[in-house]
Amino acid sequence: MQLPIDITTVKGFLADDEAAALYQAAIDTAPLGPILEIGSYCGKSTVYLGTAAKLTGNTVFAVDHHRGSEEHQLGEDYFDAELFDQQTQLVDTFVEFRNTLSRADLNDVVVPIVASTLSASKHWGTPLGMLFIDGGHSYQAALNDYQCWTPFIKKGGLLAIHDIFPDPADGGRPPFEIYELAMASGQFELVSMTSTLGILKRL
Ligand code: MG
Repeated sequence: MQLPIDITTVKGFLADDEAAALYQAAIDTAPLGPILEIGSYCGKSTVYLGTAAKLTGNTVFAVDHHRGSEEHQLGEDYFDAELFDQQTQLVDTFVEFRNTLSRADLNDVVVPIVASTLSASKHWGTPLGMLFIDGGHSYQAALNDYQCWTPFIKKGGLLAIHDIFPDPADGGRPPFEIYELAMASGQFELVSMTSTLGILKRL
């Protein structure tokens, strides 16, 4: 995998082994349709997905309200002062995200959608080759991401879920809970688990 920029210069929470699995999934599903990512933050995973899309003539839709998840807010564990807009007193990751896309020369491949999952999916109609859920970790946020977008995954397409922690001591449960929902639905089978990244195939 040849990345267009030094990925260590992009803020984010994706491990190298997870990134490699995500990239490969994006390559494998390219013939099926576009990729939709939920939770782009500053664009680290988007660079991997976008690079795979560029190589295969595909498109990545990148959905994020760019106001940060619960843990990114002022006073929370993953707050980053560099991403805090003093004027609005709100987290704003969109400036940094666009900067990442430009540096990686992915503006023609990645289509940013600055919206919540509920707003962005309301009139959506395009079948997806791959869905990557890496959004908010509250139960409602994860459930919305799962319920709003998984119906669009084509047969044979892939559902990737980040931050799956089976042990509650290791992290929040909602990504694990939607992973369990998917497995219990009878509509998906597990393809691989790489650290906290689960990849499932739509049956
Ligand atoms: Mg994540």
